[in-house]
Amino acid sequence: MNKVEHIGIAVVDFKAACALYEKLLNTKVYKIEEVDSESVRTAFLQSGPNKIELLEALSDDSPIAKFITKKGEGIHHIAFEVEDIRAEMARLKSEGFVLLNDEPKLGADNKLVCFVHPKSAGGVLIELCQSVHS
Ligand code: ZN
Repeated sequence: MNKVEHIGIAVVDFKAACALYEKLLNTKVYKIEEVDSESVRTAFLQSGPNKIELLEALSDDSPIAKFITKKGEGIHHIAFEVEDIRAEMARLKSEGFVLLNDEPKLGADNKLVCFVHPKSAGGVLIELCQSVHS
């Protein structure tokens, strides 16, 4: 795996969270995007080389809604950039990690993504993401 691509943070009040993180990081949200497959709205902020993704549930059955019900607001996942997501998924599977999807999905920010179940990753939801070059 390459670098940490971003850190995902689950939020309840999208507008307030955007304002809070803009103030905290002293930078503006540069992209807002809805991901229908996950029923979430995302906002991205860049801080130096690091990226933060804010995630708001768009429906009650969104994974973000379920997360917030269980754990409240806060860090939701850590995303790692990979060059070949299918190869990395196969490697993790062979190492005994539980993947939440068998095929890469199209996520926010033009990425192919796959999630690793937190139960198999020390309680942390891990996202693999590969940039899609258009
Ligand atoms: Zn993410």
